Amino acid sequence: AAKAAVTNAEAVALDRANVFHSWSAQKSLNPLVIAGGSGSTVWDHDGNTYLDFSSQLVNTNIGHQHPKVIAAIAQQATTLATLAPSHASHIRGIAAAKVLSHAPANMDKVFFTNGGADANENAIRMARLHTGRDKVISRYRSYHGNTGAAIVATGDWRRIPNEYARGHVHVFGPYLYRSEFWAQTPEQETERALHHLRRVIQAEGPQSIAAILLETVPGTAGVLVPTPGYLEGVRALCDEYGIVMILDEVMAGFGRTGDWFALDAHNVTPDLITFAKGVNSGYVPVGGVIISGDIAATFDDRVFPGGLTYSGHPLAAASVVASIEAFEEEDIIGNAARIGRQHLEPGLTSLAEKHDVIGEVRGRGVFWALELVQDRTTRTPVTAEYMGRLKAELLRLGLLPFIADNRIHVVPPAVVTAEEVAVALAIYDQGLTAAGPAGR
Ligand code: PLP
Repeated sequence: AAKAAVTNAEAVALDRANVFHSWSAQKSLNPLVIAGGSGSTVWDHDGNTYLDFSSQLVNTNIGHQHPKVIAAIAQQATTLATLAPSHASHIRGIAAAKVLSHAPANMDKVFFTNGGADANENAIRMARLHTGRDKVISRYRSYHGNTGAAIVATGDWRRIPNEYARGHVHVFGPYLYRSEFWAQTPEQETERALHHLRRVIQAEGPQSIAAILLETVPGTAGVLVPTPGYLEGVRALCDEYGIVMILDEVMAGFGRTGDWFALDAHNVTPDLITFAKGVNSGYVPVGGVIISGDIAATFDDRVFPGGLTYSGHPLAAASVVASIEAFEEEDIIGNAARIGRQHLEPGLTSLAEKHDVIGEVRGRGVFWALELVQDRTTRTPVTAEYMGRLKAELLRLGLLPFIADNRIHVVPPAVVTAEEVAVALAIYDQGLTAAGPAGR
Protein backbone atom coordinates (compact mmCIF):
# COMPACT_ATOMS: atom_id res chain seq x y z
CA ALA A 1 0.00 0.00 0.00
CA ALA A 2 1.16 3.53 -0.72
CA LYS A 3 2.50 5.23 2.39
CA ALA A 4 0.31 8.07 3.62
CA ALA A 5 1.79 11.52 3.27
CA VAL A 6 1.66 12.23 7.00
CA THR A 7 3.70 10.15 9.47
CA ASN A 8 2.97 9.38 13.12
CA ALA A 9 6.07 11.34 14.11
CA GLU A 10 4.78 14.44 12.33
CA ALA A 11 1.34 14.14 13.92
CA VAL A 12 2.83 13.78 17.41
CA ALA A 13 5.27 16.66 16.87
CA LEU A 14 2.48 18.99 15.76
CA ASP A 15 0.28 17.87 18.66
CA ARG A 16 3.01 18.39 21.25
CA ALA A 17 3.89 21.79 19.84
CA ASN A 18 0.33 23.11 19.87
CA VAL A 19 -2.29 21.03 21.69
CA PHE A 20 -2.95 21.25 25.43
CA HIS A 21 -4.23 17.88 26.71
CA SER A 22 -6.98 16.96 29.20
CA TRP A 23 -6.23 15.65 32.72
CA SER A 24 -2.47 15.56 32.14
CA ALA A 25 0.83 17.12 33.00
CA GLN A 26 1.86 18.29 29.56
CA LYS A 27 5.62 17.82 29.40
CA SER A 28 6.16 14.09 29.02
CA LEU A 29 3.07 13.15 27.00
CA ASN A 30 3.47 10.79 24.05
CA PRO A 31 -0.06 10.36 22.68
CA LEU A 32 -1.01 7.43 20.45
CA VAL A 33 -1.77 8.65 16.93
CA ILE A 34 -5.06 7.63 15.32
CA ALA A 35 -5.61 8.62 11.70
CA GLY A 36 -8.72 6.67 10.72
CA GLY A 37 -11.15 3.98 11.71
CA SER A 38 -13.94 1.66 10.65
CA GLY A 39 -16.25 -0.36 12.89
CA SER A 40 -14.20 -1.71 15.80
CA THR A 41 -10.81 -0.96 14.20
CA VAL A 42 -8.62 2.15 14.13
CA TRP A 43 -5.27 2.81 12.44
CA ASP A 44 -2.43 5.30 12.46
CA HIS A 45 -0.41 6.94 9.66
CA ASP A 46 2.39 4.36 9.74
CA GLY A 47 0.33 1.28 8.88
CA ASN A 48 -0.46 -0.02 12.40
CA THR A 49 -4.02 -1.10 13.15
CA TYR A 50 -5.67 -1.64 16.52
CA LEU A 51 -8.85 -3.31 17.68
CA ASP A 52 -10.58 -0.46 19.52
CA PHE A 53 -11.73 -2.09 22.76
CA SER A 54 -11.92 1.32 24.41
CA SER A 55 -14.60 2.73 22.10
CA GLN A 56 -12.47 5.87 22.60
CA LEU A 57 -13.95 7.28 25.84
CA VAL A 58 -16.59 4.54 25.80
CA ASN A 59 -18.62 6.48 23.26
CA THR A 60 -18.34 4.89 19.80
CA ASN A 61 -21.20 2.47 20.45
CA ILE A 62 -22.04 2.27 16.73
CA GLY A 63 -18.37 1.81 15.81
CA HIS A 64 -16.24 4.14 13.75
CA GLN A 65 -17.54 5.71 10.53
CA HIS A 66 -20.97 4.09 10.37
CA PRO A 67 -22.02 4.93 6.79
CA LYS A 68 -25.64 5.86 7.62
CA VAL A 69 -24.59 8.32 10.30
CA ILE A 70 -21.84 9.84 8.15
CA ALA A 71 -24.28 10.24 5.26
CA ALA A 72 -26.90 11.88 7.49
CA ILE A 73 -24.38 14.42 8.81
CA ALA A 74 -23.14 15.18 5.29
CA GLN A 75 -26.69 15.58 4.00
CA GLN A 76 -27.70 17.89 6.87
CA ALA A 77 -24.50 19.92 6.35
CA THR A 78 -25.52 20.66 2.78
CA THR A 79 -29.03 21.73 3.89
CA LEU A 80 -28.45 23.75 7.07
CA ALA A 81 -25.24 23.42 9.06
CA THR A 82 -26.25 25.47 12.10
CA LEU A 83 -29.37 26.90 13.74
CA ALA A 84 -30.22 28.81 16.93
CA PRO A 85 -32.09 26.72 19.51
CA SER A 86 -35.05 29.13 19.61
CA HIS A 87 -36.18 28.15 16.10
CA ALA A 88 -38.22 25.06 15.36
CA SER A 89 -36.22 22.48 13.42
CA HIS A 90 -37.84 19.39 11.96
CA ILE A 91 -34.72 17.25 12.37
CA ARG A 92 -34.34 18.34 16.00
CA GLY A 93 -37.97 17.39 16.67
CA ILE A 94 -37.41 13.94 15.18
CA ALA A 95 -34.22 13.51 17.24
CA ALA A 96 -36.07 14.31 20.49
CA ALA A 97 -38.97 12.02 19.58
CA LYS A 98 -36.54 9.19 18.75
CA VAL A 99 -34.77 9.55 22.10
CA LEU A 100 -38.12 9.66 23.94
CA SER A 101 -39.41 6.59 22.09
CA HIS A 102 -36.85 4.44 23.94
CA ALA A 103 -37.18 6.16 27.35
CA PRO A 104 -39.60 5.22 30.16
CA ALA A 105 -43.24 6.20 29.61
CA ASN A 106 -43.22 9.08 32.14
CA MET A 107 -40.68 10.99 30.04
CA ASP A 108 -42.02 13.92 28.07
CA LYS A 109 -39.32 16.25 26.65
CA VAL A 110 -35.64 16.43 25.71
CA PHE A 111 -33.33 19.37 26.43
CA PHE A 112 -30.26 19.08 24.20
CA THR A 113 -26.77 20.03 25.39
CA ASN A 114 -23.26 19.83 23.94
CA GLY A 115 -22.22 16.76 25.94
CA GLY A 116 -22.62 14.84 29.17
CA ALA A 117 -21.30 17.35 31.70
CA ASP A 118 -23.69 20.11 30.72
CA ALA A 119 -26.51 17.55 30.61
CA ASN A 120 -25.86 16.86 34.31
CA GLU A 121 -25.41 20.57 34.98
CA ASN A 122 -28.86 21.31 33.57
CA ALA A 123 -30.51 18.29 35.20
CA ILE A 124 -29.24 19.53 38.58
CA ARG A 125 -30.57 23.00 37.80
CA MET A 126 -33.99 21.57 36.88
CA ALA A 127 -34.12 19.53 40.08
CA ARG A 128 -33.21 22.57 42.19
CA LEU A 129 -35.83 24.78 40.56
CA HIS A 130 -38.49 22.03 40.63
CA THR A 131 -38.04 21.29 44.35
CA GLY A 132 -36.92 24.70 45.59
CA ARG A 133 -34.17 22.78 47.40
CA ASP A 134 -30.45 22.97 47.06
CA LYS A 135 -28.33 19.93 47.90
CA VAL A 136 -27.38 17.15 45.51
CA ILE A 137 -26.39 13.71 46.72
CA SER A 138 -24.16 11.67 44.45
CA ARG A 139 -21.73 8.80 44.90
CA TYR A 140 -18.11 8.43 45.69
CA ARG A 141 -16.81 6.40 42.75
CA SER A 142 -18.63 8.25 39.99
CA TYR A 143 -17.91 10.63 37.13
CA HIS A 144 -20.45 13.21 36.00
CA GLY A 145 -18.38 15.58 33.83
CA ASN A 146 -15.97 18.49 33.95
CA THR A 147 -18.11 21.59 34.60
CA GLY A 148 -19.17 23.55 37.71
CA ALA A 149 -21.67 21.29 39.47
CA ALA A 150 -20.95 18.11 37.46
CA ILE A 151 -17.33 17.92 38.56
CA VAL A 152 -18.23 18.51 42.19
CA ALA A 153 -20.93 15.83 41.96
CA THR A 154 -18.16 13.53 40.67
CA GLY A 155 -16.80 11.07 43.19
CA ASP A 156 -13.23 10.53 42.05
CA TRP A 157 -9.91 12.44 42.33
CA ARG A 158 -10.94 14.88 39.63
CA ARG A 159 -13.43 16.57 41.99
CA ILE A 160 -10.90 17.61 44.60
CA PRO A 161 -8.90 20.30 42.69
CA ASN A 162 -12.19 21.66 41.24
CA GLU A 163 -14.37 21.93 44.31
CA TYR A 164 -15.97 25.35 43.77
CA ALA A 165 -19.69 24.56 43.39
CA ARG A 166 -21.64 24.29 46.62
CA GLY A 167 -24.40 22.05 47.90
CA HIS A 168 -22.90 18.63 47.10
CA VAL A 169 -22.91 15.60 49.39
CA HIS A 170 -21.44 12.16 48.61
CA VAL A 171 -22.38 8.65 49.69
CA PHE A 172 -20.94 5.21 49.08
CA GLY A 173 -22.90 2.94 46.78
CA PRO A 174 -22.94 -0.83 46.34
CA TYR A 175 -19.61 -2.40 45.31
CA LEU A 176 -19.54 -5.86 46.80
CA TYR A 177 -15.97 -6.69 45.76
CA ARG A 178 -14.70 -3.78 47.88
CA SER A 179 -17.70 -3.41 50.16
CA GLU A 180 -17.74 -0.35 52.43
CA PHE A 181 -20.42 -2.13 54.45
CA TRP A 182 -18.68 -5.39 55.48
CA ALA A 183 -21.25 -7.16 53.29
CA GLN A 184 -20.82 -10.79 52.26
CA THR A 185 -23.82 -11.04 49.95
CA PRO A 186 -25.47 -8.79 47.35
CA GLU A 187 -28.57 -8.59 49.57
CA GLN A 188 -26.54 -7.28 52.51
CA GLU A 189 -24.75 -4.79 50.24
CA THR A 190 -28.06 -3.43 48.93
CA GLU A 191 -29.68 -3.21 52.35
CA ARG A 192 -26.70 -1.54 54.01
CA ALA A 193 -25.99 0.89 51.15
CA LEU A 194 -29.64 1.96 51.29
CA HIS A 195 -29.49 2.33 55.07
CA HIS A 196 -26.36 4.51 54.70
CA LEU A 197 -28.13 6.64 52.07
CA ARG A 198 -31.21 7.04 54.28
CA ARG A 199 -29.06 8.11 57.24
CA VAL A 200 -27.21 10.68 55.10
CA ILE A 201 -30.52 12.08 53.82
CA GLN A 202 -31.79 12.38 57.40
CA ALA A 203 -28.55 13.87 58.68
CA GLU A 204 -28.35 16.43 55.86
CA GLY A 205 -32.03 17.34 56.28
CA PRO A 206 -34.47 15.90 53.74
CA GLN A 207 -36.00 19.34 53.15
CA SER A 208 -32.66 20.56 51.80
CA ILE A 209 -32.09 17.82 49.23
CA ALA A 210 -33.08 18.52 45.63
CA ALA A 211 -31.71 15.47 43.88
CA ILE A 212 -29.96 12.17 44.06
CA LEU A 213 -27.73 11.88 40.99
CA LEU A 214 -26.40 8.41 40.16
CA GLU A 215 -24.82 6.73 37.19
CA THR A 216 -27.14 3.77 36.60
CA VAL A 217 -23.98 1.69 36.25
CA PRO A 218 -20.96 3.70 37.42
CA GLY A 219 -18.64 3.44 34.41
CA THR A 220 -15.22 5.03 34.77
CA ALA A 221 -15.35 4.09 38.47
CA GLY A 222 -15.25 0.42 37.48
CA VAL A 223 -18.45 -0.81 35.77
CA LEU A 224 -20.14 -1.18 39.15
CA VAL A 225 -23.38 -2.94 38.21
CA PRO A 226 -25.75 -2.16 41.11
CA THR A 227 -26.67 -4.99 43.43
CA PRO A 228 -30.29 -6.16 43.02
CA GLY A 229 -32.83 -3.80 44.56
CA TYR A 230 -30.46 -0.86 45.09
CA LEU A 231 -31.85 1.48 42.43
CA GLU A 232 -35.41 0.50 43.37
CA GLY A 233 -34.55 1.34 46.98
CA VAL A 234 -33.13 4.73 45.95
CA ARG A 235 -36.36 5.44 44.07
CA ALA A 236 -38.38 4.61 47.19
CA LEU A 237 -36.23 7.00 49.29
CA CYS A 238 -36.67 9.74 46.66
CA ASP A 239 -40.45 9.23 46.82
CA GLU A 240 -40.48 9.19 50.61
CA TYR A 241 -38.54 12.47 50.89
CA GLY A 242 -39.69 14.32 47.75
CA ILE A 243 -36.28 14.14 46.10
CA VAL A 244 -35.73 14.18 42.31
CA MET A 245 -34.02 11.04 41.02
CA ILE A 246 -31.53 11.73 38.22
CA LEU A 247 -29.96 8.77 36.43
CA ASP A 248 -26.79 9.58 34.48
CA GLU A 249 -26.87 7.30 31.42
CA VAL A 250 -24.10 9.19 29.60
CA MET A 251 -21.80 6.15 29.48
CA ALA A 252 -24.24 3.33 30.27
CA GLY A 253 -27.01 4.31 27.82
CA PHE A 254 -27.67 3.52 24.17
CA GLY A 255 -26.57 -0.07 23.95
CA ARG A 256 -23.56 -0.22 26.25
CA THR A 257 -25.28 -2.63 28.66
CA GLY A 258 -27.19 -4.48 25.93
CA ASP A 259 -30.32 -2.38 26.54
CA TRP A 260 -31.45 0.99 25.21
CA PHE A 261 -30.88 2.38 28.69
CA ALA A 262 -29.08 0.62 31.52
CA LEU A 263 -32.10 1.38 33.71
CA ASP A 264 -34.19 -0.96 31.52
CA ALA A 265 -32.68 -3.89 33.42
CA HIS A 266 -34.00 -2.48 36.71
CA ASN A 267 -37.49 -1.81 37.93
CA VAL A 268 -36.97 1.92 38.28
CA THR A 269 -38.36 5.10 36.76
CA PRO A 270 -36.22 8.21 37.30
CA ASP A 271 -37.42 11.81 37.01
CA LEU A 272 -34.55 12.94 34.81
CA ILE A 273 -32.14 11.00 32.61
CA THR A 274 -28.94 12.46 31.22
CA PHE A 275 -27.36 11.09 28.05
CA ALA A 276 -24.55 11.81 25.54
CA LYS A 277 -21.83 9.50 24.14
CA GLY A 278 -23.69 6.48 22.66
CA VAL A 279 -26.71 8.49 21.47
CA ASN A 280 -24.72 9.34 18.31
CA SER A 281 -21.35 7.81 19.21
CA GLY A 282 -19.84 11.28 19.47
CA TYR A 283 -19.71 11.85 15.70
CA VAL A 284 -20.91 15.37 16.55
CA PRO A 285 -20.76 16.58 20.18
CA VAL A 286 -24.20 16.25 21.78
CA GLY A 287 -25.90 15.31 25.02
CA GLY A 288 -29.14 16.05 26.75
CA VAL A 289 -31.62 15.73 29.58
CA ILE A 290 -34.73 13.59 29.21
CA ILE A 291 -37.38 15.28 31.35
CA SER A 292 -40.41 13.68 33.01
CA GLY A 293 -43.84 15.20 32.45
CA ASP A 294 -43.92 16.36 36.07
CA ILE A 295 -40.68 18.29 35.91
CA ALA A 296 -41.34 19.61 32.42
CA ALA A 297 -44.66 21.03 33.74
CA THR A 298 -42.74 23.13 36.31
CA PHE A 299 -41.55 25.20 33.38
CA ASP A 300 -44.90 25.51 31.57
CA ASP A 301 -45.45 29.04 32.88
CA ARG A 302 -42.12 29.64 34.52
CA VAL A 303 -38.96 30.56 32.61
CA PHE A 304 -36.30 27.85 32.46
CA PRO A 305 -33.13 29.86 33.11
CA GLY A 306 -30.70 27.88 30.97
CA GLY A 307 -29.56 27.52 27.37
CA LEU A 308 -26.67 26.92 24.98
CA THR A 309 -25.95 28.39 21.53
CA TYR A 310 -25.60 24.90 20.05
CA SER A 311 -28.49 23.22 21.90
CA GLY A 312 -30.12 20.88 19.39
CA HIS A 313 -27.52 21.63 16.71
CA PRO A 314 -28.75 20.34 13.32
CA LEU A 315 -25.65 18.22 12.60
CA ALA A 316 -26.01 16.64 16.04
CA ALA A 317 -29.74 16.11 15.55
CA ALA A 318 -29.21 14.46 12.16
CA SER A 319 -26.56 12.17 13.65
CA VAL A 320 -28.83 11.22 16.56
CA VAL A 321 -31.70 10.30 14.24
CA ALA A 322 -29.49 8.27 11.88
CA SER A 323 -27.74 6.56 14.76
CA ILE A 324 -30.95 5.51 16.54
CA GLU A 325 -32.43 4.33 13.22
CA ALA A 326 -29.34 2.23 12.53
CA PHE A 327 -29.58 0.78 16.06
CA GLU A 328 -33.20 -0.17 15.35
CA GLU A 329 -32.67 -1.51 11.83
CA GLU A 330 -29.48 -3.45 12.54
CA ASP A 331 -30.42 -4.80 15.98
CA ILE A 332 -27.29 -3.25 17.47
CA ILE A 333 -28.72 -3.40 21.01
CA GLY A 334 -29.45 -7.10 20.52
CA ASN A 335 -25.91 -7.63 19.25
CA ALA A 336 -24.43 -5.97 22.36
CA ALA A 337 -26.57 -8.17 24.63
CA ARG A 338 -25.68 -11.38 22.76
CA ILE A 339 -21.98 -10.54 22.57
CA GLY A 340 -22.04 -9.96 26.32
CA ARG A 341 -23.87 -13.17 27.20
CA GLN A 342 -22.37 -15.54 24.66
CA HIS A 343 -18.83 -14.26 24.18
CA LEU A 344 -17.54 -11.66 26.66
CA GLU A 345 -18.91 -13.19 29.85
CA PRO A 346 -17.70 -16.75 29.17
CA GLY A 347 -14.47 -15.54 27.52
CA LEU A 348 -13.48 -13.17 30.32
CA THR A 349 -14.48 -15.74 32.94
CA SER A 350 -12.11 -18.30 31.42
CA LEU A 351 -9.38 -15.66 31.28
CA ALA A 352 -9.87 -15.21 35.03
CA GLU A 353 -9.55 -18.96 35.53
CA LYS A 354 -6.17 -18.84 33.83
CA HIS A 355 -4.74 -15.57 35.23
CA ASP A 356 -4.62 -15.13 39.01
CA VAL A 357 -4.17 -11.40 38.52
CA ILE A 358 -7.87 -11.10 37.59
CA GLY A 359 -9.66 -10.69 40.91
CA GLU A 360 -13.14 -10.08 39.54
CA VAL A 361 -14.94 -10.02 36.19
CA ARG A 362 -18.10 -7.92 36.14
CA GLY A 363 -20.40 -6.26 33.64
CA ARG A 364 -23.04 -6.85 31.02
CA GLY A 365 -23.49 -6.21 27.31
CA VAL A 366 -20.33 -4.57 25.98
CA PHE A 367 -19.57 -3.00 29.38
CA TRP A 368 -17.08 -5.12 31.38
CA ALA A 369 -14.29 -4.62 33.89
CA LEU A 370 -11.43 -6.87 34.88
CA GLU A 371 -10.29 -5.94 38.36
CA LEU A 372 -6.57 -6.72 38.58
CA VAL A 373 -5.07 -7.59 41.96
CA GLN A 374 -1.69 -8.61 43.34
CA ASP A 375 -3.33 -11.19 45.57
CA ARG A 376 -6.82 -12.64 45.35
CA THR A 377 -7.20 -12.87 49.12
CA THR A 378 -6.13 -9.35 50.08
CA ARG A 379 -7.49 -7.91 46.81
CA THR A 380 -4.61 -5.42 46.78
CA PRO A 381 -4.75 -3.56 43.46
CA VAL A 382 -1.89 -4.08 41.01
CA THR A 383 0.57 -1.19 40.74
CA ALA A 384 0.55 1.62 38.19
CA GLU A 385 3.81 0.14 36.84
CA TYR A 386 2.05 -3.16 36.17
CA MET A 387 -0.81 -1.39 34.38
CA GLY A 388 1.70 0.55 32.27
CA ARG A 389 3.42 -2.68 31.27
CA LEU A 390 0.15 -4.37 30.45
CA LYS A 391 -1.08 -1.44 28.38
CA ALA A 392 2.15 -1.41 26.35
CA GLU A 393 1.85 -5.17 25.71
CA LEU A 394 -1.79 -4.88 24.58
CA LEU A 395 -0.95 -2.04 22.19
CA ARG A 396 2.02 -3.99 20.85
CA LEU A 397 -0.35 -6.91 20.18
CA GLY A 398 -2.77 -4.63 18.32
CA LEU A 399 -5.46 -3.84 20.87
CA LEU A 400 -6.35 -0.36 22.12
CA PRO A 401 -7.40 -0.95 25.76
CA PHE A 402 -9.35 1.18 28.21
CA ILE A 403 -7.33 1.36 31.41
CA ALA A 404 -8.69 2.86 34.64
CA ASP A 405 -6.71 2.58 37.89
CA ASN A 406 -6.07 -1.17 38.41
CA ARG A 407 -8.67 -2.23 35.86
CA ILE A 408 -9.06 -3.04 32.21
CA HIS A 409 -12.49 -1.99 31.01
CA VAL A 410 -13.51 -4.23 28.14
CA VAL A 411 -15.72 -1.81 26.25
CA PRO A 412 -15.82 -2.46 22.49
CA PRO A 413 -18.41 -0.87 20.20
CA ALA A 414 -21.90 -2.41 20.42
CA VAL A 415 -21.41 -3.52 16.78
CA VAL A 416 -18.40 -5.70 17.68
CA THR A 417 -18.45 -9.18 16.12
CA ALA A 418 -17.85 -12.56 17.76
CA GLU A 419 -14.69 -12.92 15.63
CA GLU A 420 -13.31 -9.60 16.89
CA VAL A 421 -14.08 -10.61 20.48
CA ALA A 422 -12.20 -13.87 19.93
CA VAL A 423 -9.15 -11.96 18.66
CA ALA A 424 -9.35 -9.53 21.58
CA LEU A 425 -9.64 -12.34 24.16
CA ALA A 426 -6.51 -13.95 22.72
CA ILE A 427 -4.69 -10.61 22.94
CA TYR A 428 -5.75 -10.03 26.57
CA ASP A 429 -4.54 -13.56 27.33
CA GLN A 430 -1.14 -12.99 25.69
CA GLY A 431 -0.82 -9.51 27.16
CA LEU A 432 -1.51 -10.72 30.70
CA THR A 433 1.09 -13.45 30.26
CA ALA A 434 3.65 -11.03 28.78
CA ALA A 435 3.12 -8.40 31.51
CA GLY A 436 4.60 -10.89 34.00
CA PRO A 437 4.11 -11.04 37.77
CA ALA A 438 1.61 -8.62 39.26
CA GLY A 439 3.54 -7.94 42.44
CA ARG A 440 5.62 -5.14 40.98
N1 PLP B 1 -21.36 11.23 32.93
C1 PLP B 1 -20.72 10.06 32.76
C2 PLP B 1 -21.27 8.83 33.40
C3 PLP B 1 -19.56 10.00 31.98
O1 PLP B 1 -18.93 8.82 31.83
C4 PLP B 1 -19.09 11.17 31.37
C5 PLP B 1 -17.86 11.14 30.55
O2 PLP B 1 -17.06 10.24 30.61
C6 PLP B 1 -19.78 12.37 31.58
C7 PLP B 1 -20.92 12.36 32.36
C8 PLP B 1 -19.31 13.65 30.97
O3 PLP B 1 -19.56 13.70 29.61
P1 PLP B 1 -18.80 14.74 28.68
O4 PLP B 1 -17.34 14.40 28.73
O5 PLP B 1 -19.45 14.55 27.33
O6 PLP B 1 -19.07 16.10 29.23
